Amino acid sequence: MTNEMTTQLIDPYGRSVDYIRLSVTDRCDFRCVYCMAEDMTFLPKADLLTLEELEQIVKCFMSLGTRKVRLTGGEPLVRRNIMHLISALGAEVKAGRLDEVTLTTNGSQLGKMAHELYEAGVRRLNISLDSRDKDTFKDITRWGDLDKVMAGLETAKQAGLSLKINMVALKGVNDDEFADMLRWCGDEGFDLTIIEVMPMGDIGSENRLDQYLPLTEVRRQLENHFTLTPSTHRTAGPARYFDVQETGGRLGLITPLTHNFCESCNRVRMTCTGELYMCLGQDDNANLAQALRSGGETALKEAIIEAIGRKPKGHDFEISRRNSAPAVSRHMSVTGG
Ligand code: SAM
Ligand code: SF4
Repeated sequence: MTNEMTTQLIDPYGRSVDYIRLSVTDRCDFRCVYCMAEDMTFLPKADLLTLEELEQIVKCFMSLGTRKVRLTGGEPLVRRNIMHLISALGAEVKAGRLDEVTLTTNGSQLGKMAHELYEAGVRRLNISLDSRDKDTFKDITRWGDLDKVMAGLETAKQAGLSLKINMVALKGVNDDEFADMLRWCGDEGFDLTIIEVMPMGDIGSENRLDQYLPLTEVRRQLENHFTLTPSTHRTAGPARYFDVQETGGRLGLITPLTHNFCESCNRVRMTCTGELYMCLGQDDNANLAQALRSGGETALKEAIIEAIGRKPKGHDFEISRRNSAPAVSRHMSVTGG
């Protein structure tokens, strides 16, 4: 859908920014080994933007041409009363003022929430599922229950939601499951995206270098079983796509460490405390909570426009023996991937 306002947020490199990802909470009911330490300290609840403030900020972005919103976290579906915000944004989709509201979720709450999500106007979900083996799933998520997630996916399917599976490739952990996951996704009618571990946030005793598996290796493995043809499918996101002849489905590979995906970046990310990050891999941010609370709608709009003027050309993630420290200190759960 076109919109006469979509050209309003243009960054210094000529990229139009019409997509916002909102992390609505930093909390999660899982503790994935690559994402968080088990004893994570979360923000005091009082520091969070209220759901009304989140809605106000999204509407301000919409007035500047934003057409697509993704809610993420932490686990977005564990935020109390999150359906209020989702329904409000869904109403904007139904009215044609937004193209889409989607979520990235670990699936743990879908058994009880999938139907409500559909009714609210959500049509697609990204689900993080790193393993279909019960023990491996537990090893990765520490607190997750695979059966509950699988039941949630089934409910989501029945509710009419279209699902994409995100799988983080972890050396020595789930690296024997790629072919099985791709086959299963084909059977279920889900697209699959496999992601390299990114160096974000301290993860306690775990070492990212030990977890890191370049996707060149994943592709090599998959090509032993499947015919992968580079696809003409493009999004403004970081994935490169392949058509999978044997399943008729699509495979996405996200290789932030081995491939630069920034040229077409159309998105910004906001934390649950109102910090706007113009790049996932950089620390520069703008405090939209302060702008909104001190100067209302006008100050908020000015702060957003000023921030987009500082959107960097790209990130510089690196994992190497020399440097296994996080490239950015915040966790993925702060900006939500
Ligand atoms: N809890 C939800 C979930 O897991 O889908 C949403 C938030 S989670 C931070 C969003 C995505 O980021 C998930 O697909 C997760 O696997 C991915 N992720 C988290 N930490 C990561 C890291 N260090 N490197 C690569 N992907 C990461
Ligand atoms: Fe939670 Fe998602 Fe991070 Fe796993 S990846 S700990 S589910 S926020």
